[in-house]
This record gives sequence, structure tokens and C-alpha cells, in this order.
Amino acid sequence: MTPAAPLMREGIITCPHCGAIASEPMPEDACLFFYACKTCGVVLRPKSGDCCVFCSYGSVPCPPMQAQRAGSMGEAQNECSGLKPKRGP
Ligand SMILES: [Zn+2]
Repeated sequence: MTPAAPLMREGIITCPHCGAIASEPMPEDACLFFYACKTCGVVLRPKSGDCCVFCSYGSVPCPPMQAQRAGSMGEAQNECSGLKPKRGP
């Protein structure tokens, strides 16, 4: 009944605008690209290099990304956050 590596089906999104925290269900095979905060109404979009708002603002990455990370722990090339921000000097 229980998969070996169960995916998180729900994520906690923290609004960067008002700080509101909301628990949202995550679609298993799709990325949520837009999320409207229920508290302040601001529309969140993924940060550069992220595939969905859960990866940018959520407590856990989206299910497809969880599966990808679980399947290729050593490879960081194709990860959602593969485009790591470069820090200047
Ligand atoms: Zn908000």
C-alpha cells in the first residue's frame, strides 16, 4: 500500500509579500506556476531557475522534482534549482 518513497502531496507556501502561510495540495504530475496568495492577493511566480512556486516558496519541492531528486541524488545538472544564483564578490 505504501510506496517506498512517498511523495509529499501537500506543500506549505510562505508568501514573501505578507508572510502568510498556506497549505496547498500539489498536483503530482504538473507544476504550479502561478499562485495567488489568499491573504494579500499577490500572485507568486517561480524564481529564476525554479520550475514552480512550490520550489521557490514552498516547504517542499513539487512532486515531479521530489521524484527526480530521489532518482538522481548525485546529479545536480537537471534539478529544478540547477541554475544556482551566482554570488558576487
Ligand atoms: Zn501574501
